[in-house]
Amino acid sequence: MPELPEVEGVVRALSPKIEGKTILEVALSKTVCDAHQQGKQCIVKNMEPREFEEQMRGMTIKKVLRRAKYIFIDLEKNNTPYLFVNHLGMTGAWFIVQNENEILEEKFRNHIHATFQLSTGELLIFSDIRRFGELRLLNTIDEHPPLLQMAPEPFDEIALNYFLEKCELTKYKNKPIKEVIMDGQVISGCGNIYATEALFRVGIHPARKAGRISIMRKIALFEEIQKILLESIERGGSTISDYRNINGEAGGMQHRLKMYGKKVCPACNASTKSMIIGGRTSVYCPKCQR
Ligand SMILES: [Zn+2]
Repeated sequence: MPELPEVEGVVRALSPKIEGKTILEVALSKTVCDAHQQGKQCIVKNMEPREFEEQMRGMTIKKVLRRAKYIFIDLEKNNTPYLFVNHLGMTGAWFIVQNENEILEEKFRNHIHATFQLSTGELLIFSDIRRFGELRLLNTIDEHPPLLQMAPEPFDEIALNYFLEKCELTKYKNKPIKEVIMDGQVISGCGNIYATEALFRVGIHPARKAGRISIMRKIALFEEIQKILLESIERGGSTISDYRNINGEAGGMQHRLKMYGKKVCPACNASTKSMIIGGRTSVYCPKCQR
């Protein structure tokens, strides 16, 4: 699943290519339209496919930004601002091409769910193999309250204190630290890969209760999360299974991961262990992490 660095990579690649352009036509896939007919909000959320296509037509793309693991696109039509929010889900990917056949990997070509024809003649395409991605058109962010509950950006000055304060709440202090740092209301954009790595780097066991870790260790953990997110952004994210940057490009951070998906601890050679925490597989070293 794409995490913050991967989404940042998509935003950085997408923004210079689409900002300032206007959407002339929009087409959603038959899969999306059929699912909506059966009452399932497949990919397009809170709006009928027909209405989505109609409303998106004529929108000018003003700015592409990242917020946590979301892509925020500021749009404008008839002097009215709109916010288009995209979550990549498990396998969402964007392509900018002249023609669908330029999408080299067949699995992405076969799962195109939204095609936006731009004023320059290019096609902006959203492909999603597993269909957990989201496209949501809003007038303002308030229309979708979960977006307002997101923790501050991890690089914000207030983010560390925000994290420490949340750890003191009854809701979090008895939970495993890994589950807490992966909660988007505590830290923005730290998913399984980077949570696993950061805990290994600071030697904290993923199941340790958040309230039973000293302030010093929690600060070290938070700083490690910031560091690893930045390191990954610089390397274009981690390409694991079906995540891609735009136009199918791969990142390089996966080669630097030390614990995620590993069978042997690179520090002490012990066999790693894994357990399920907060519904996700957590790999850790039983000797190095306490
Ligand atoms: Zn070890």
